Amino acid sequence: MLTLVDRLRRWRTKPTDRAFRFSRPLVLLQSDDWGRVGVRDREGYEQLRANGIHLGENPYDYYSLETAEDVMALRDMLKRHRDATGRPACLVMNFLLANLDFQKTTETGFQSIHLLPLSQGLPGAWKRPGLFEAYRQGISDDVFYPALHGLTHFCRPAVERALTAPGDRNNLLHTLWKAETPYIYWRMPWIGYEYCNPEKPQAGFLEAEIQGNLIAEAAREFQRFFSTVPLSACAPGYRANDDTRRAWSQCGIRVAQNGSGGALPPHMDDRGMLNLHRTIDVEPFERGLSLEKYMQLAERCFERGIPAIVSIHSINFHSSLKDFRGPALRVLDEFLGALEAKHPNLLYVHDTDVYELVSRGKFKGPRGPVSVEVKQGDGKSGSTMLGAR
Ligand SMILES: [Zn+2]
Repeated sequence: MLTLVDRLRRWRTKPTDRAFRFSRPLVLLQSDDWGRVGVRDREGYEQLRANGIHLGENPYDYYSLETAEDVMALRDMLKRHRDATGRPACLVMNFLLANLDFQKTTETGFQSIHLLPLSQGLPGAWKRPGLFEAYRQGISDDVFYPALHGLTHFCRPAVERALTAPGDRNNLLHTLWKAETPYIYWRMPWIGYEYCNPEKPQAGFLEAEIQGNLIAEAAREFQRFFSTVPLSACAPGYRANDDTRRAWSQCGIRVAQNGSGGALPPHMDDRGMLNLHRTIDVEPFERGLSLEKYMQLAERCFERGIPAIVSIHSINFHSSLKDFRGPALRVLDEFLGALEAKHPNLLYVHDTDVYELVSRGKFKGPRGPVSVEVKQGDGKSGSTMLGAR
């Protein structure tokens, strides 16, 4: 849910220059929070309940971690969908590149935070046989496109502050970490988001240098895990400021993902970074809309020449504690099928394809280059032609 402050911030940063329109319906799927552990399956769930945490009050109490089967089921569904060029649907997966190293953190008496990079596996008793291989398989099948979410989702200084002060927050962290759960956000929004501290005395975005170090480290870990550099990024909680975008740019990021709300067209900022805004929230784990409603939202995008950018978080595909996966796959499958039926010329693309389109008017498809007419303007009128088919 957007607060008034969020809306004002979004309004203030509303782009008026270098917005892009496209001659064909483009469909992007963007998904956050991959690779981050939550409640450690049934065992961790029972342990937390035994320690006084009344789980089951919010869907995020059932946020665990995707399994290899979850990822393969998603991959298989996406592979069944094809666009006008024969290309399968592609999900941009925003990864968190580290988890809390619960063991090390416990050994140091909860005095400081230790992280375990994803490239070194999962922490403590967490087990997910075949998961990393399933990610890689989907990437090589062209149905997953990995992108950068961050190193951790929470704001490290905010959590470190709670660690040094005795009290409820400190106790909650100890209880969760003993059960190998890093946090459950809705129960503790004071942990903030990676680049943004919600509370005084240091409320607001972290300093540029600190953000720069966090982003550089996350990008290095991304390269270690995927053997390729990240080209697209989405800040945890969509909390990014100019310092965040500068640090992304310095790490080679070309596309900045933004949350939904304004249904804004893609636009290029001053430093040459393409900003994409999500336009359709498909989050059945929380609230499902009718297929008609999803189609209506997509139509509104296509009528304006902007891509339909679907936001669908990783929790939708989890099944360990609750079967979110079954219903979400059905909803997405049905939605993509309806889009393909209605728009035989639609193109499934990912973030970097859109960047290629606005830069060169074409991108690399499975059977050669795909050209799309791109118009550039102020988002309202006076467009100029950039690329032609
Ligand atoms: Zn996230």
